[in-house]
Amino acid sequence: MKVLKFGGTSVGSSENIKKVADIVSKRTAEGKTIVVVSAMSGITNLLIESSEKSARGDESYKEAIKIIEDKHFQVIRDLISINDQSGIIANVKVLLNQLEDVLHGVSLVKELSKKTSDYIVSFGELLSSTIIAEVLEAVWVDSKELIKTDGNFGNAQVNFAVTDSLIEKYFAGTKEQLFILPGFISSTEKGELTTLGRGGSDYTASILAAALSVEMLEIWTDVNGIMTADPRQVEQAFTVPEVSYKEAMELSHFGAKVIYPPTILPVYKKNIPIKILNTFDPENIGTLISDTDNSKMPIKGISSIEKIALLSLSGSGMVGIPGISSRLFGALSLAGVNIVLITQASSEHSITIAISPDAVEDAVQAVNSEFEFEIQLGKVNPLKVELGLSIVALVGEKMSGQVNVSGKMFSALGGNGINLRAIAQGSSERNISAVIEEKHVKKALNVLHERHFENDNPRLNLFIVGIGNVGGTLVEQIKKQAENLEENSKIEIRVIGMCNSRKMLIEEAGIDLNSWKAQVEACSEKFTTEGLIARAKELNLRNSVLVDCTANEEIASMYKPALTANISVVTANKIACSSAYEKYQELKAISLKNGAKFLFETNVGAGLPVIGTIKDLVFSGDKVKRIEGVVSGSLNFIYNNYTGENNFHDVVKQAQEE
Ligand code: ADP
Ligand code: ASP
Ligand code: MG
Repeated sequence: MKVLKFGGTSVGSSENIKKVADIVSKRTAEGKTIVVVSAMSGITNLLIESSEKSARGDESYKEAIKIIEDKHFQVIRDLISINDQSGIIANVKVLLNQLEDVLHGVSLVKELSKKTSDYIVSFGELLSSTIIAEVLEAVWVDSKELIKTDGNFGNAQVNFAVTDSLIEKYFAGTKEQLFILPGFISSTEKGELTTLGRGGSDYTASILAAALSVEMLEIWTDVNGIMTADPRQVEQAFTVPEVSYKEAMELSHFGAKVIYPPTILPVYKKNIPIKILNTFDPENIGTLISDTDNSKMPIKGISSIEKIALLSLSGSGMVGIPGISSRLFGALSLAGVNIVLITQASSEHSITIAISPDAVEDAVQAVNSEFEFEIQLGKVNPLKVELGLSIVALVGEKMSGQVNVSGKMFSALGGNGINLRAIAQGSSERNISAVIEEKHVKKALNVLHERHFENDNPRLNLFIVGIGNVGGTLVEQIKKQAENLEENSKIEIRVIGMCNSRKMLIEEAGIDLNSWKAQVEACSEKFTTEGLIARAKELNLRNSVLVDCTANEEIASMYKPALTANISVVTANKIACSSAYEKYQELKAISLKNGAKFLFETNVGAGLPVIGTIKDLVFSGDKVKRIEGVVSGSLNFIYNNYTGENNFHDVVKQAQEE
């Protein structure tokens, strides 16, 4: 017996449901099959929005009902033969009428309880499962009658003793081969409808799989299994073929949405393996989650929790006094606040915790009232709250055997100008987490992915200003050398921006260098120095480099904001380094402070490796006492070519031409 779960995208259109039908028909040939489905993609969100609208008395919730109706009727028209449509249309109409009635009711009383909200969102799974049962000619089973929970609406806790026996009893009495159930929904002992939390259809499938001790739980989604990072954020992410239950739990807890966190536990307890598979690429091996992980990968994935708040409790009165942390965590637990991460300085002067921003209000109230007395005496400061933060985490059971994983992680982030607000490493060393500013999440994920998974191929993202003679030649060289650089120097160069004095072409995925001239010609965005810096900052790509191929003072004035924003500068323009010495020193200092490179080899000796050589000498312990030389390429040429017999004017002219 197998349990298969199909997610929102997998059942999101007639075409996709056909793919589901193909997959299911192969499985039924192998034995009894239980299929759990999510709501069609986008429907749960639409239901939540409509319920909020109707609670505000906003009549436009009716438009949402129309969209929901159209989407489901389209599937019926496409996939069910006309002779069989009337029954299913009637069933779907009944559901839609119930939905309309409750939304109308909410709009009248202008009040939306969590209980009503659960009832409203349940229609997503009810509609999809009812229709797909008809398409697959499967027995529709009401999960509400099998999965029993407490009354914590929106995120109900399952009563496994009751649920397991209901599931066992129901399926023991059946002879059919194919069953379909709505995911996500459940009910209390009293029969009130509850839901298992966003993404909860995975959990429904796991509860069924565990109760029935099936051989395998298959989660069918829209990506090739668990990947090294969210492929929507990290283009280079790739599938991890095997992960352990614990790693899967850790990854999902730290934001890998591909599997809903509570899903793992029920099947883990029974040692039932989970496969994460792709409905749109069914032959792909996907990921196997089990307790036997033969892979050698030390790090299995990098995940992130986008919205996090940091709370810090500090004060002189905390040092050496026992019980402070237990009171802090006790107060938070009583207030129902879920803690994602904890760090404590060894001085015990402060404790910092990360929680969801939604829980901040409850947490502040609970903690400040717990420590009211100490706060009044000035021994403890009122709880400090910082918002706009995120967590990025490296997860992998075999990380513990590796030296310097965290060192690499922190230096990669620091080197890209990403500040660490707090860090934590689980004692199991299965997870290393860093709290960073929310605006840096995508960059951080990419930086970490590059450092830990693509070690061999760092990528440079260039913004080239000046694409005339010098810049244009550089672009052509990059085009010619790209393959060679990737192969031999393990560097991938992407040109993200190209600007001339009028225009600015920006392509986040990299400009196609085969047609760059035509693309610049065709683009309409105007170039300004502020505009370019703003775009580069907004894209926030790792290893961003501003390449100045102009001889323009205004462009040289961009180095300071660029370096400050951690964008490296490589320049052939001599203005910045040959004007006031203080200016040069300032730029060097900013570059050093921000870990952004400031390189100008072509400024001296026409690109002969003068600066590099001097740098190496200094690094190896030499002291520069005096430098003698003609460091201007043009002057060198002139001195070498003026013999006293030829005309000085002609030599200068030749230098200029060459
Ligand atoms: P479903 O509707 O099938 O349950 P979800 O949208 O809930 O699908 O989860 C699948 C999505 O999870 C993927 O499309 C992907 O964007 C996201 N995701 C986040 N982290 C990961 C990861 N590490 N590996 C794979 N997918 C991930
Ligand atoms: N439809 C629900 C949601 O969007 C449950 C699920 O898809 O797993 O959260
Ligand atoms: Mg999901």
